[in-house]
Amino acid sequence: MPSLNTLLLVVQAATSPAQSPQLAAFKQEAVRDVASRAQFTQQMVDQIFSYAELGFQETETSRYLVDLLRKNGFTVREGIAGIPTAWVATWGSGKPVISLGSDIDDIPQASQKPGVACHAPLIEGAPGHGEGHNSGQAVNITAALAVKKIMEREHLPGTLQIWPGVAEELVGTKAYFVREGVFKDVDIVLFSHVDDNLATSWGDISGNGLVSVQFSFLGKSAHAAGAPWRGRSALDAVELMDIGWNFRREHLRLQQRSHYVITNGGDQPNVVPPTASVWYYLRELDYPHIQEMFALADTLAQAAAMMTSTTLLPPRILGSAWPGHFNKIIAEAMYENIKQVGLPQWSEADQRLAHALQRDIGAPDSGLATRLDTLRPALKPGERTGGGSDDIGDVSWNVPTVTLRFPSNIPGLPGHNWANAISMATPIAHKGATAGAKVMAMTILDLLMRPELVTQAWDYFRTVQTKDIKYQPLIRPQDRPAIELNRDVMARFRPQMRRYYYDPSKYRTYLEQLGITYPTERAADGSCSGGATP
Ligand SMILES: [Zn+2]
Repeated sequence: MPSLNTLLLVVQAATSPAQSPQLAAFKQEAVRDVASRAQFTQQMVDQIFSYAELGFQETETSRYLVDLLRKNGFTVREGIAGIPTAWVATWGSGKPVISLGSDIDDIPQASQKPGVACHAPLIEGAPGHGEGHNSGQAVNITAALAVKKIMEREHLPGTLQIWPGVAEELVGTKAYFVREGVFKDVDIVLFSHVDDNLATSWGDISGNGLVSVQFSFLGKSAHAAGAPWRGRSALDAVELMDIGWNFRREHLRLQQRSHYVITNGGDQPNVVPPTASVWYYLRELDYPHIQEMFALADTLAQAAAMMTSTTLLPPRILGSAWPGHFNKIIAEAMYENIKQVGLPQWSEADQRLAHALQRDIGAPDSGLATRLDTLRPALKPGERTGGGSDDIGDVSWNVPTVTLRFPSNIPGLPGHNWANAISMATPIAHKGATAGAKVMAMTILDLLMRPELVTQAWDYFRTVQTKDIKYQPLIRPQDRPAIELNRDVMARFRPQMRRYYYDPSKYRTYLEQLGITYPTERAADGSCSGGATP
């Protein structure tokens, strides 16, 4: 039975006063302003694409964004929660405090020439924006600057906060931001994430939360041929734990997702490995089930240690995420703005790139989205089948939060893959980010000028979302951000990557700098030359 409060909320939302003529005028002004900043938005998207940094190593990206925000009047605090690439920028004063976040890290081995509809790495083996996290900060910053201009002129009270999702691909930081108190005084969080449509949703996400844990074993080295009986292999423990898990997963709930990589499998075959580590992502629908999986994995690790006479070290948590729950009131307000902005006008070249890529990788040949997604209502428990995770979930259980998804990518792609990088420094990404910034700016204006929205959002948060479920972090008091991750890989590739950093003082776009014809398709002889010879 819905509570009286819930019913009241529904009624209030349905009958909330139409926006004032002044708010409508400000929204129109902001939309025009965002449109006039299209080149600024494009430069941010292209710049961060060219930096292509892995989680926790986003040094160029963060320096660039911090400089840009300071130049635009924001106060920036760096090194948040002991994370060198994390920062919080603020501007304005008083209530409401509106917090804008978006991820900035990329994907291992996803290097790809933009605008080329087949696999053509810019640098073989290097990281690349194979998720599209190069675009969200452009959405947030463009929107914030458009709104800031109006706030300054009209003396509107309110504070804008902007922050990066550092190491989201490692679900590595947002729980630490929460622990650090970044959202303590925040009224509403608006998060933005790349997608292939302009959309938002409310209620529980369809995906999972997770805990990311490394299990390490200590054995004894010995000559693997001369005296193998004197050795105890830590790698054996890793392999037996993995075998145990792979049998056991048959008897886990269908909603779980679990996967691992062996991060240390020994040095060379003739030395019995004295140390070995395996890194698991353990995903489930809610906190109790995630903890249950963690406990089971720990049991299997202890059993593997017993079987091999090795020692299990204390498991290290490298990341965590609560399953997200998004705010109904804010999502509905945002969706009204989405309907007004609509999808970008795709050019024939944009559609050609999309179709060519979809055919190349065997995805449905749908082209780019031309119909808006509907506002997805809350999923019922049985409709949640599990999937990916985003640590925005932790934020969403502390402050009313909504994610704006904007159309900078191509439908039907595998995700976490070079194919997802192809559109991300092309007009598709640029137009998608501008459309997203328009919606974001309009929604910030809603929150500034309709205080009842903030009140209703908190009512939903308190009386519906967190009525029975209270946030408890998955990170333990002793856990610290895993800031050393990816350091070696980035150090290896950065010198080569530097040669391809985007220089907007010389080139209008990154495509122009790389000399890529847009779009470039696979050649008639089947080769994928990638067009450019940078
Ligand atoms: Zn993402």
